Amino acid sequence: MAAARKKAAETMAKIDVVVELLDARLPGASSNSLIERLRQARQRPCLRILNKADLADPEATSAWLRHYSSGDVRAVALSCKKPDDVAKVPHLAATLAPHRDSALKPVRMMVMGMPNVGKSTLINALLKRKAAKTGDEPAITRQQSRFQLDDRSELIDTPGLMPTAIRHASDGLMLAASHIIGADAYIDEEVGTFLADILLRRSPALIRTRSEVEPGGMDGYRLISEIAAKRGYLRKGGKPDYEKAARALMQDYRSGLLGRISLETPQTRAIMLSGDAAPPVS
Ligand code: GDP
Repeated sequence: MAAARKKAAETMAKIDVVVELLDARLPGASSNSLIERLRQARQRPCLRILNKADLADPEATSAWLRHYSSGDVRAVALSCKKPDDVAKVPHLAATLAPHRDSALKPVRMMVMGMPNVGKSTLINALLKRKAAKTGDEPAITRQQSRFQLDDRSELIDTPGLMPTAIRHASDGLMLAASHIIGADAYIDEEVGTFLADILLRRSPALIRTRSEVEPGGMDGYRLISEIAAKRGYLRKGGKPDYEKAARALMQDYRSGLLGRISLETPQTRAIMLSGDAAPPVS
């Protein structure tokens, strides 16, 4: 990871636009401040893509777009699984580097972001071939690769960059719930309970319709226990299998089965950042 950071800093000098991917469901938690520091040090503009917008709450995504777009940052919400969305990226990036965009000076775009936010999916869709390895497993891309997109633009794929430390516990839990941190780094019960608490606060109607559980007056622990009971997840001796139900809830959230959900908004993030006493979501 340290080598990837060093290489990213070096490459930053030789590119025109940073294409930074965030997960639209948790843009704040899935942003790496190192990327911002590296690009500001070299004064490179940024196309900030809130990817997986198909899974996120559209209202929260609009608030994030307003929050992020300023100065040399242009924020857009996309789904890199949709070819029409992906087709917009080269033009959006080129508008940030008007001095390039020619056959002699192609726009050099550096694709950056945490693991599993969709970098390889974007690159493959742009190149219309399977050039980068994709998969729902964090940290598959290990080396930088350079691709000619057309005679006006080039793409540089970079390995997923995780911060050296995750400062806020709730960020770690959001990242784990969204599978940006790998399964071996956290405990399913803890992450599932955290996710259930957020879902109860932010999307009780979806819990009612998709999980067929009445959310009123519940906390995350009760919700998962109810899911275990409803789906018949039982351990030996007939006790509810809490761990299995927690994993099932996470899977339903990750796949979009629960509906379009955002784990944070600019407002909830500001509250979270304003002090440890404040709850991570409201
Ligand atoms: P990378 O590690 O950043 O290169 O991420 P990948 O491109 O390998 O994508 C990680 C997972 O997210 C894969 O299972 C992709 O199919 C999925 N994915 C990528 N973009 C989108 C998107 O816009 N919407 C949805 N629903 N899934 C996506």
